Amino acid sequence: MKFGTKAIHAGVEPDPSTGAIMTPIYQTSTYVQRSPGDHKGYEYSRTHNPTRTALQNNLAALENGKHGLCFSSGLGAIDAIIKMLNPGDEVISTNDLYGGSYRIFTKVFERYGIKFHFVNMDDPASISNYINENTKLIWAETPTNPMMNIIDIEAIAEVAKKHQILFAVDNTFATPFLQNPLDLGADIVMHSVTKYLGGHSDVVMGAIIVNDDELADKLAFIQNACGATPGPQDCFLVLRGIKTLHIRMERHCQNGKTIAAFLKNHPKVDKVYWPGFENHPNYHIAKKQMRDFGGMISFTLKGNKIEDARKVLENLHYFALAESLGGVESLCGHPASMTHASIPKEEREKVGLVDSLIRLSVGIEDAEDLKEDLKKALEMI
Ligand SMILES: *Cc1c(COP(=O)(O)O)cnc(C)c1O
Repeated sequence: MKFGTKAIHAGVEPDPSTGAIMTPIYQTSTYVQRSPGDHKGYEYSRTHNPTRTALQNNLAALENGKHGLCFSSGLGAIDAIIKMLNPGDEVISTNDLYGGSYRIFTKVFERYGIKFHFVNMDDPASISNYINENTKLIWAETPTNPMMNIIDIEAIAEVAKKHQILFAVDNTFATPFLQNPLDLGADIVMHSVTKYLGGHSDVVMGAIIVNDDELADKLAFIQNACGATPGPQDCFLVLRGIKTLHIRMERHCQNGKTIAAFLKNHPKVDKVYWPGFENHPNYHIAKKQMRDFGGMISFTLKGNKIEDARKVLENLHYFALAESLGGVESLCGHPASMTHASIPKEEREKVGLVDSLIRLSVGIEDAEDLKEDLKKALEMI
């Protein structure tokens, strides 16, 4: 089955009792048993729910994995992965990381005796310097947020395999349409389903996809034991959203390319960060592991003034100023004062996250309108 067919058909079947073509929202917490223990595979909705099962199977298929598990948020999914570890264990993570991931690692799990090393993964061989007998997990995110760096998944998977360390990839930015980390050697794929998979900015959810049966059992145990599971209504909304994932992503990529080119040629724009440019430092890796380059773009302004960035953001209309990304509508954000405000200025600037940096999640509107919107806003400075 090809990707678009999977998006629509994988994991879902007409409802056996009525023939309803769409998976019903099984809005129930419990299931009647004929005799103690004699049930139809469903006992309690924290453990299993048929709407969630359909979504989990669909997500597994999209990532070419065997097992899918859904959580009440992306962070709920991350929480479950780290809870497989024990005090004294060590994790090697990308240093250019989603702020919430950095927060749960350092502010929650370090208190439980898990040690995190944040490293630049541009050179996969350098990871070996941090590996010791306590290293249990490597955590990567690519493309990174908001600098759009690309990490070589295959190269890191090789290091992980050599040392028998689990390797997890946060695939939120790329989506399974653009990149399948399990095929590239990763053990765990994690998603903030809230973003492109849901795709309509109306659900908060997370997911994990794995191939290994034992790993799936461990994660399913935590999913049930810790209880960060999504409700059936949200699972229905995501199943519905995923049916158009492939055509949404095609348009996100097409619009991303148009907007990146427009910004690159604009006299008031300084740098444009988008992995589809041939002079992007990791272009060859992006080309190797991604099918296209996506609709996430960051750019800076000449003169690098925060007031100018503010002016642009205040004067954009189709690009709504808001946190999050990956919805059908275009969004814009100011990482230095919004998502990455908790990182000290000097630290931020070391990776290029300067005051005038603006991040765009290019939606699926008509590109001409989006260009016009940016053109008018940039004229205000
Ligand atoms: C949003 C996001 C998360 C967290 O997901 P939530 O659904 O907001 O909990 C994790 N990683 C990345 C890359 C994200 O963009």
